Amino acid sequence: MKLRHHPYTLELRHAFNIANNSRTTTPAVLVEVEQDGITGYGEAAMPPYLGESQATAAAFLGKVDLSPFADPFQLEEILPAIDALAPGNTAAKAAVDIALHDWIGKKLGAPWHRLWGLDPAKTPVTSFTIGLDTAEIVRQKTREGAPYKIIKVKLGRDTDRMMIETIRSVTDTPITVDANQGWADRNEALRKIEWLATQNVLFIEQPMPKAQLDDTAWLRERSPLPLVADESCQRLADVARLRGVFDGINIKLMKCTGLREARAMITLARALDLKVMLGCMTETSVAISAAAQLSPLVDWADLDGALLIRNDPFDGATIVDGKVTLNNRPGIGAVKR
Ligand code: MG
Repeated sequence: MKLRHHPYTLELRHAFNIANNSRTTTPAVLVEVEQDGITGYGEAAMPPYLGESQATAAAFLGKVDLSPFADPFQLEEILPAIDALAPGNTAAKAAVDIALHDWIGKKLGAPWHRLWGLDPAKTPVTSFTIGLDTAEIVRQKTREGAPYKIIKVKLGRDTDRMMIETIRSVTDTPITVDANQGWADRNEALRKIEWLATQNVLFIEQPMPKAQLDDTAWLRERSPLPLVADESCQRLADVARLRGVFDGINIKLMKCTGLREARAMITLARALDLKVMLGCMTETSVAISAAAQLSPLVDWADLDGALLIRNDPFDGATIVDGKVTLNNRPGIGAVKR
């Protein structure tokens, strides 16, 4: 098994603004695993505020030694060994996980949604994301998002009401809100959510800072809308303690080390009666297509990441009429353009 990796910078179509960050590029590392003439593709996408970089990913991937393993089929041996190399580095770990899954699917000649026994017709609709911006840009982006069945809006500053009223001046499309930990005061958070519940909002993602689980549980008891954990839920080990605090979790491959752990998180969340959302960073069609393979299992998807960049080197799962749409290509379903 050969493992190759190289840095690749994702160029965003629009500057992306959330509660504590603004940027025009996302650093990524593209990974290839090769054996028997078959190449599996993987990707680490690393928004800077999460702490990984092209340098940390290259350093971590340089430590990964696949030579003790006979072939990529030994996922249950390989991936825990990689996870144990160092803490963190979740995006770099996801890159290898995705590439190994892609290789296996290609070797077997089947897409992963089929290997997992999922119905490709049951993919969810995906939301179209609008970042924190001026009323003019928000209006323009709302019009751009017209084909989508759900709009996801980033809140968490003092412009929250303006953002929602601006979108509502253009469309009645259901909205999901992502506060990105922006509401530190639980009473203020409750007042905001009570108003949002009158605006055809479906749920609230990460209303409060990730460590304020007691306040979030207080909020959940009173909130008229479901609360979904994002920053509070990174990996499998986080899921059980979120029961009673949130109504659902947002799983992202770059947070949880890849498809193997994401699938386990979905299973555990279902056992705990939690809703499941599948999200992404700004990513190429490699990571988006990998996540899309799991999407028939989830309630909500936010998989517009590849649409937000203008230099996607891959073609893969797409969004058709706002719905995640799988193809029949083997593996994760992404090919080089
Ligand atoms: Mg979020």
